[in-house]
Amino acid sequence: MTQTLVPTVADRLRAIVGSDHVITQPDRLVAYESDGLTAYRVAPRAVVLPETTEQVSKVLEVLHGEGIDVIPRGAGTGLSGGALPSSDGVIVGTARMNRILSIDDQNRLATVQPGVINARLTKATEPYGLYYAPDPASQSACTLGGNVAENSGGPHCLKYGVTSRYVTGLTVVMADGEVVRFGGAGLEAAAGLDLVGLFVGSEGCFGIATEIEVRLLPKAEGVRTLLGLFDTMAAAGHAVTDIISSGLMPAAVEIVDHATIVAVEASVFAAGYPTDAGAALVIEFDGTEAGLDDDANRAEQCCLAAGAIEVRRAASEEERIGLWKGRKKAFGAMGRIAPDLLVQDATVPRTRLPEVLARITEIGEEYGLNIANVFHAGDGNLHPNILFDRQNQDELERVERASREIMTLCVSVGGTITGEHGVGIDKRGYMPLVHNEVELEMLRRARWVFDPGGNLNPGKVVQ
Ligand SMILES: Cc1cc2nc3c(=O)[nH]c(=O)nc-3n(C[C@H](O)[C@H](O)[C@H](O)COP(=O)(O)OP(=O)(O)OC[C@H]3O[C@@H](n4cnc5c(N)ncnc54)[C@H](O)[C@@H]3O)c2cc1C
Repeated sequence: MTQTLVPTVADRLRAIVGSDHVITQPDRLVAYESDGLTAYRVAPRAVVLPETTEQVSKVLEVLHGEGIDVIPRGAGTGLSGGALPSSDGVIVGTARMNRILSIDDQNRLATVQPGVINARLTKATEPYGLYYAPDPASQSACTLGGNVAENSGGPHCLKYGVTSRYVTGLTVVMADGEVVRFGGAGLEAAAGLDLVGLFVGSEGCFGIATEIEVRLLPKAEGVRTLLGLFDTMAAAGHAVTDIISSGLMPAAVEIVDHATIVAVEASVFAAGYPTDAGAALVIEFDGTEAGLDDDANRAEQCCLAAGAIEVRRAASEEERIGLWKGRKKAFGAMGRIAPDLLVQDATVPRTRLPEVLARITEIGEEYGLNIANVFHAGDGNLHPNILFDRQNQDELERVERASREIMTLCVSVGGTITGEHGVGIDKRGYMPLVHNEVELEMLRRARWVFDPGGNLNPGKVVQ
């Protein structure tokens, strides 16, 4: 049962951020009951939407003084329940902290507020011939603050690496409202321990990032995009292994399975993928023009040798967008199949992909569940998408049992329980699969150093 906020506390928060930016009305709180992990829903006591570091600091000072838990929230696209509220907690959202504070093209750096949408940063840096490399498939909605907290990846992180490689400085508001600054000025070297590195991936448990300095990259001179079509996922999996082991360095290698192709093609996002294909592989190379055609030819040969029925190649930017469409719109299209979707996230050694995918199909059959796969194949980062209806309690329980079995399977072949979506609430129970008690205690202590009172995002990551 959600507790209401004491009127005097609500009034103090309104005095800091303005009365329109403290939400306490139950009908408006519904929008904040869950993130992208819709299986879990809890209404918070209130949502506070500050605009500046100073406001965040004052808000946290009030909440800390009252002993009220704080749940940081960006766009709420997280898939592990990281921004799931607690019934006695208050969400501090960054939707109004959406300013790009500076773009320094000479030093290839940008400083942004945490509520800036990922794709907006790339758009803003385009006139300088630059872009922001980490590109989660949710990049048109997710925020830089969420990306930092989850250490997010994306299709092109195969070549370019995940968020931690790009964050060079942070302004952080601690649980008690204290403002601290880590790193900055694009410097690689930390004076002492690397606090920026420690903070990235802390899932809202260490503090609220209110200013983020990131490294930008120059736009690649050229790009080549291929779509490999296969009869089976196993054949596509073999092509991935062959491409990587041949020494090629694609920017992205993404897989879409048959169930997903059918869903996309039946939707408004239809991308022209053949619906009888068992799997599609989107492969992209970028860099200096010289050599790109050779790379694309070699990748095509790998696909054909692994049994591809067809390999298409984009001849223009418009065609490139078309080849990517079936991958990029996959999640949206799945809404046609079932009301709810649990996007699982695990990583396995690339060479184990074919056997793991075959076993995941069997697990789906054993539990009577529809599982569709769309994922970052190049780095072995699986996303089995379990489709279900959360109103059906029996189905929900089967989803949870199947998830645990998939996680156990991935760990048993040398993988781990998350690639990029974080632990949040969803994976907390799986942590003992990959950490012993000593390691878990280290994580608890690291958390304590930043938040001794345990008020920031309690119940997430590790208990
Ligand atoms: C369709 C779809 C595709 C996706 N594809 C990818 C993908 O390719 N790669 C990938 O990595 N992820 C992907 N995701 C997951 C998600 O988009 C990322 O985790 C993203 O970084 C979350 O950003 P957000 O702004 O929505 O954060 P939220 O969901 O609001 O929050 C995520 C976590 O960050 C914390 N947080 C938010 N802002 C701050 C802040 N300023 N300071 C401290 N903590 C904060 C929250 O407490 C929470 O723990 C996808 C999600 C969807 C729905």
